[in-house]
Amino acid sequence: MAASKRDYYEVLGVNKTASQDEIKSAYRKLAKKYHPDNKETGNAEKFKEATEAYSVLSDESKRKTYDQFGQAAFDQASGGQNPFAGSGFEGFNFGGGDFDDLNDILSRMFGGFGGSSSRRSSAGPIRGEDTLMRIRINFMDAVNGKKVTIPVSYDEKCKDCNGTGAKNGSEFDKCPHCNGRGRVIRQTQTFFGTMQSESVCPYCGGSGKLIKTKCPTCGGKGYSRVKKDIEINIPAGIQSGQQIRVAGKGGRGVNGGDNGDLYIEVIVTEHNYFKRDGNNVHITIPLDFIDAALGTTITIPTVYGEVDLKIPSGTQPDSVFRLKDKGIKELRGNGYGDEYVHVEVKIPTYLNKDQKKALEEYKNATSKGDSFFDKFMKNFKK
Ligand SMILES: [Zn+2]
Ligand SMILES: [Zn+2]
Repeated sequence: MAASKRDYYEVLGVNKTASQDEIKSAYRKLAKKYHPDNKETGNAEKFKEATEAYSVLSDESKRKTYDQFGQAAFDQASGGQNPFAGSGFEGFNFGGGDFDDLNDILSRMFGGFGGSSSRRSSAGPIRGEDTLMRIRINFMDAVNGKKVTIPVSYDEKCKDCNGTGAKNGSEFDKCPHCNGRGRVIRQTQTFFGTMQSESVCPYCGGSGKLIKTKCPTCGGKGYSRVKKDIEINIPAGIQSGQQIRVAGKGGRGVNGGDNGDLYIEVIVTEHNYFKRDGNNVHITIPLDFIDAALGTTITIPTVYGEVDLKIPSGTQPDSVFRLKDKGIKELRGNGYGDEYVHVEVKIPTYLNKDQKKALEEYKNATSKGDSFFDKFMKNFKK
């Protein structure tokens, strides 16, 4: 479903560096044009598309995820075994916060469409909230990418009644309490006279309809709880804290509205030896002082397996060697980072007899007054 989606920036007609103000104003224009209440240019599909684009791009953290992943990483498949059952997950709602701003814009914008929209907003379909779940993966899985199967549960809209709870989605009676208006007028006698106030009908929730015959499939609830394992692709190169969107697996919509989306935040466990910096990988290796002096070839680990590294003679403590393209693959693009090998030259704290003898020979082979310290003192006294 996600594969055929248009780029969110393209949907809103803004460029990738657009500010939040530009995004908001672009959305405002489109929403006004395509809102289903707009009789001339209303278009529910386009309205939905723009709203979805806005809901992501107006949220800096979602926007960042979108920028880094693109739409492709949002795809998901289903089925498979769950290796994480019972641990490592946290789920909670994003809360209404994400859409407060959006609702605010809409209500300010559409208050004027002949008064019909305020009634519609309480009775019409409302999209469910987005939910967030966290999973933990290890460092190497983040490097190589991984398919993981995770257990999810969400309410699925009943297909037989389209979420209305009424048989065939049509067996309703007109609400007798509001006579189908969805709103009731209350009159209160006060000192100043009769005060009149209008509010949403508490019996039908504003829809103006009551269920006549319950949908036999969902028993009138309009949805059913689904628990299943879904498989998600964690793309190679993902960084800790980035999120993957699974469309339609979030909170339940109201009045037949679509589900929100499920966002899966990926937490990457640190590696004992590899340290990540962007797409580069750093590793520190110990090296015998004699190997640093004489030079050698060592076999060292990279995230893609072991490779030979030539240590030239005369290698100094804290030298760094770069292994090109042995770092992490770019999330978007085909490039790779590098691996940096930091050399820690080690001097033994204990020498056996033979080692001691060999080093004394080395010392004797060094001309008198030619040690590093001798040279330092010579310069110091100059
Ligand atoms: Zn009613
Ligand atoms: Zn049903």
